[in-house]
Formats: sequence, structure tokens, C-alpha cells
Amino acid sequence: MPLATPHYLIDENALDRNLAKVDRLRALSGAKCVFALKAFATWSTFAQIAPHMDGSTSSSLNEVKLGREKFGGETHAYSVAWSDDEIDEAIANADKVIFNSISQFERYAAKAAHLPVGIRVNPGISHSHFDLADPARPFSRLGERDPQRIESVMDRASGFMIHCNCENDSFESFSALLDQFEAKLGHFFERLDWVSFGGGLHFTGEGYALEALAARLKAFAERYQLQVYLEPGDAVVTQTTTLEVSVLDIVDNEKQIAIVDSAVEAHMLDLLVYRETAHVEPDAGPHRYVIAGKSCLAGDVFGEFDFPEALKVGDRISLLNAGGYTMVKKNWFNGVNMPAIAIRRKNGDVELVRSFDYADYVASLS
Ligand SMILES: *Cc1c(COP(=O)(O)O)cnc(C)c1O
Repeated sequence: MPLATPHYLIDENALDRNLAKVDRLRALSGAKCVFALKAFATWSTFAQIAPHMDGSTSSSLNEVKLGREKFGGETHAYSVAWSDDEIDEAIANADKVIFNSISQFERYAAKAAHLPVGIRVNPGISHSHFDLADPARPFSRLGERDPQRIESVMDRASGFMIHCNCENDSFESFSALLDQFEAKLGHFFERLDWVSFGGGLHFTGEGYALEALAARLKAFAERYQLQVYLEPGDAVVTQTTTLEVSVLDIVDNEKQIAIVDSAVEAHMLDLLVYRETAHVEPDAGPHRYVIAGKSCLAGDVFGEFDFPEALKVGDRISLLNAGGYTMVKKNWFNGVNMPAIAIRRKNGDVELVRSFDYADYVASLS
């Protein structure tokens, strides 16, 4: 019997295709890749992903602990702000600690003196299409910008983390940014053991100039005699996962609207945040429908697509590219059933790895 909807369906073969590119980039460039758990923390898949990466990176104590416990390799501990209550546990579970500000560095770096410690640096430039996700936006709190303040920790910092890319699918754009980093920060790079260029490089995408990226990173590492890191999140899981939903009702209001057993805000939140639409395949044919969720939000719309056949109640729809930043953001808004998580194994078998029920909903509140 097919699995009930809604569920996220992760495809192991698709994941392997991305991981082969991660491997290729690491081999050609010498750069280390640590997985950004904030994009995808579905730990059932870590046994497949971890052998192709050098470890994980984090944005909170919980992610540090998950990385240590379930991912292995190097565990990078970064957070926009650590609290006094969590810093000791973060350090105890980390192989490297990265502070977001000089004040956090001064407050906690001595506790981590036995580990490599770094500082997030904000060069004030970025590749981002969205102000909301732009680390270089005015008044950004993400990383230190002042060279004098950076200088004040250079005696203790062994590396920098610079995360300025969001969904950057162009090597040329990254390379131009890197030129600017070098112009601004090259005199610091010479004194460091490592530099991380963060996430956001879509090097697993179709047609990305992966070899050129590798050559650029390798030359950079040689020039400054340091270890380069990347922190891919979405690039590892892009195009690996679908959100499987079923049609519950079809209504007509100048357009045909198919209501499905999911909700954008609860299960694919970034579509709303970044004003994007979902995708289906083939998205061709004579029957056009708005695919909408079952929450009470008027704008709970996944998108408008063309189908080869007329839809009917009970039909299944696969919403594509539902891996990165979906499961880590899912919530119980409207009490809509939480999608289960399933994995399509390499032999084609679909295995349910987690399901959620009323008890989980109740347990999420009190
Ligand atoms: C979000 C983030 C990442 C991962 O970004 P992706 O776009 O998912 O690759 C890596 N590092 C830092 C510091 C981040 O904030």
C-alpha cells in the first residue's frame, strides 16, 4: 500500500548525485565541506551524507549536539549569540568555535582556548536577492565589519567565517566577491590557519562551473597557506526531496483550485517568506489548477500548474525540491497533519522513517 500523504519523500539516488559533486569539489579544491544543519537536519539521512563531508556546522547548541551525536567528523559550533547557559556545552561538543562578534569572542574565547576559535567577519558585500536574507543589509548584526576590532582578536583567532552568499548559482559572481574579500581582508588572511566561505554556493546545480570554483579555492588556499572550508546546506539536498500531497477537494472561483492535505506556511514556509512558488513536473497539459493548502490562510497557495489529466479527489501530487529549509521549519499551524518523513532507498523501496500524530501535536504545546 502506498504511504499516506502528506509526507516528505527523500530520494537516496538524487542525494548521491549531489554528494558525488561534493566529493568532486573537495577532491579538486582541497576545501573541506561541513554540512549546515540549519538547512536540513533529517538525521536518518546522515549515514549517507556524512561519508562525503568533513563534518557539520551549526547555528545553535541543539545543532552542535546533533552534529556531534549523529553526523560526526568535525563539529563546528557557530551561533549568532551564545548564552552563558549553553557556551560550556557548545564548546564541549565542538572541534572549532566561531563567534559572531568581538564582544562574544572576548566573553567566551578563553574557555575554548584548547580549540581553534574563529570570528565571523562581514565584508559588507554579498550575493543575495532578498534583503531578508542579506548578511550585508544595512545595520547587519551578522559578523564583525571593523578592521580595527578584527585586529584586536587576531592574536587568538585562527580563522574567519565569511557567509555572504544566498542561492548563488554563478561561479563568476562568487569569484568577483572573493576578489573583493581579498582586497579588503587579504592582510588578515595571511595570518590565518583557515577561512570558511559559508554556505549558499549552489555548486551542485546543473551547469555550475564546479571545476572553476575548485581551482579558485585551491589557488586561494595556496596563496594564503590556509585551509578553506565551505558550509553547504541547501546545495547538498537540492532536488532530492518532494512533498507528497493528495487532493482533498476541487473548488471553482474563476480558476480551478485543488485543495491538498498540506499547508504552505506549515510545510514549505520559505515559499511564503521568499514569495516563490512550488514546482511540479511535467507542469504541462491542458488542465490548469491552482494548488492550495488546507489552512485558513487566504494565501495558502503552492502555485498554479498545468496537468496532463483533469485532477480528481484522491489524486497524488509531488511538490518538487522540498528538502532544504522545509522539514527544519515545519510547524503545527492550524493543527494540519505534520507530513511524515520517508526515504526512497536506492533499490526503489520507500521506507517510512518517521510519522507524527495527534500526540505529537499535543506534546508541542501545553
Ligand atoms: C545558512 C548558512 C549556511 C548554509 O547556507 P545554504 O544556503 O543552505 O548553503 C552556512 N553557513 C552559515 C553561516 C549560514 O548562515
